[in-house]
Amino acid sequence: METASENLDTIRARIAAAAREQGREPNDIRLIAVSKTFDSEAIRALIDAGQRDFGENRVQEAAAKFPPLRAEFSNLHLHLVGPLQSNKAADAVALFDVIHSVDRDKIAASIAKETAKQGRTIRCYVQVNIGEEAQKAGVAPGETAAFVERCRSVHGLLIDGLMAIPPVDEPPGPFFALLAKLARESSVSGLSMGMSDDFETAVAFGSTDVRIGRALFGHRPRQI
Ligand SMILES: *Cc1c(COP(=O)(O)O)cnc(C)c1O
Repeated sequence: METASENLDTIRARIAAAAREQGREPNDIRLIAVSKTFDSEAIRALIDAGQRDFGENRVQEAAAKFPPLRAEFSNLHLHLVGPLQSNKAADAVALFDVIHSVDRDKIAASIAKETAKQGRTIRCYVQVNIGEEAQKAGVAPGETAAFVERCRSVHGLLIDGLMAIPPVDEPPGPFFALLAKLARESSVSGLSMGMSDDFETAVAFGSTDVRIGRALFGHRPRQI
């Protein structure tokens, strides 16, 4: 089995190669290690290898694992990549630096209220339901620009970009291209797209944030 540090080297090299192929600067792409279901020991192995950006999709799970690691490593950067409920907004704002799943006014308002209350600065991404799938979270593609504008002007959020998870059973390229187009129309530069199986394609279409779990940590002990 490869070590965490070998996996990290391999993924970084693949991101860099995909970036250079497009004439892009590899350092412009942020690698987020998605550590959901993996324990602190596995996370620590990646921290020791130099990784600092981590993603989790559940507030409670992250709140159980990361505070001790944060106390030890002051420069960790935590990303919430999963759905957020309003009643968890206070915990999410206290723990995370970036929230990738803003997809409705109610949650935008809760994040804004908590950041003001806690004196925190949180960067946000608007999640887009890029394949317009019934079971997926996110704003509809056609509503994205208007929602980004409301997040900024009505709620006062710092919107850095858009996030999406394309349909599993279709080639992802056209969905990544659509997200990039929506980002241009919404005047945001961040593109949180690309996972273990499709991150090189995502980089080819302009991804600035790839969210990678299995390719770094190995098989997930349970599906979530
Ligand atoms: C789990 C997850 C990932 C990482 O998925 P892998 O296939 O393990 O790379 C990325 N983004 C989100 C939103 C996730 O929930």
